[in-house]
Amino acid sequence: MVIQHLDDDLRPAICIFYLVLRGLDTIEDDMTIPNETKIPLLQKFDTFLSQPGWTFTGSGPNEKDAHLLVEFNVVISEYLKLKPAFQTTIADITRKMAHGMTEFMTRKVETLKDWDLYCHYVAGLVGIGLSKIFSDSGLESPDVGRREELSNSMGLFLQKTNIIRDYLEDYDQGRIFWPKEGWSLFVSDPSKDLGEFKRPENSQQALNCLNYLINNALNHIPDVIEYMSQLKNQSVFNFCAIPQVMAIATLSACYNNHGVFEGVIKIRKGEAVKLIIQSRSMTNLLAIFDDHLRRMDSRILTNGNKINQETTSIIQTTLKKTIAPRYVRSPFQFSLALFVGLVSTFGIVFFLNKETLLERL
Ligand code: MG
Repeated sequence: MVIQHLDDDLRPAICIFYLVLRGLDTIEDDMTIPNETKIPLLQKFDTFLSQPGWTFTGSGPNEKDAHLLVEFNVVISEYLKLKPAFQTTIADITRKMAHGMTEFMTRKVETLKDWDLYCHYVAGLVGIGLSKIFSDSGLESPDVGRREELSNSMGLFLQKTNIIRDYLEDYDQGRIFWPKEGWSLFVSDPSKDLGEFKRPENSQQALNCLNYLINNALNHIPDVIEYMSQLKNQSVFNFCAIPQVMAIATLSACYNNHGVFEGVIKIRKGEAVKLIIQSRSMTNLLAIFDDHLRRMDSRILTNGNKINQETTSIIQTTLKKTIAPRYVRSPFQFSLALFVGLVSTFGIVFFLNKETLLERL
């Protein structure tokens, strides 16, 4: 949905970028392909982009996106129509991501540094590539593409949020993305694993660990705000803002919430639509961050432990140093935006296929 709403100059490039990485990820996720086949396939994946007609039919029966690889020749022929600068960025990011994926096939996310590196490979690189495409299209300034640290943080904020939220689903499928350096601080016996947090007797330690990782993710917010404030094109702004507001809403819903260890914490559909509609300007984006950070802060007990105190300190610093200089809280402006948003929500729900739109969110 966000790709479809991009300006004409960007839509094909971003769409192909997405499909190429989706193809790469379909191979990475396929547990029926043995590593000795998978690793060279991933490492050569960027070179297939310059081989018209290349397809892959070796996916396992349960890969829902296998048809993308079966008809990958279509993606390649569209890729080859893109302007050279876009092609270079897409191939370059694909190559780097594939190498990162193979690196983490042979080792785990142990340290907090590994966590940043893993998230850089699977999400930060996407942010860096997108920013280069925005700049090369001429719709954004060259600085957007150049300031890679900010683009990387945009990706890390989203990826860490997903990893934190998906604790249970990932653990139950044998995948562990919570960094051991972080979670081992909260289990008494270091030989035990992450599954300890599901036990009722460990619920307080589980919450402490959850909040500790959320604190880590919250530290990316100043970069996110800095990145967003550079953007000039409305379609690029919306494209970038939507996942970011979903992420802050998700983190705020997960904070100190034992539900993360019991099921999936989801943003209510109405809330999601409201966020999408509100996040169309820098002022509203700041208002959403301000609102969620304050909500989180208000739920922290004043006599909380060290981790809770750290959350308060991160939130207060972010509000004061990052959000306040750019944003003066105005209840009228925000409620006006809310009113316009709610009216538009009825329109969207009425005119579009509600399930398709909302399920995709
Ligand atoms: Mg994957």
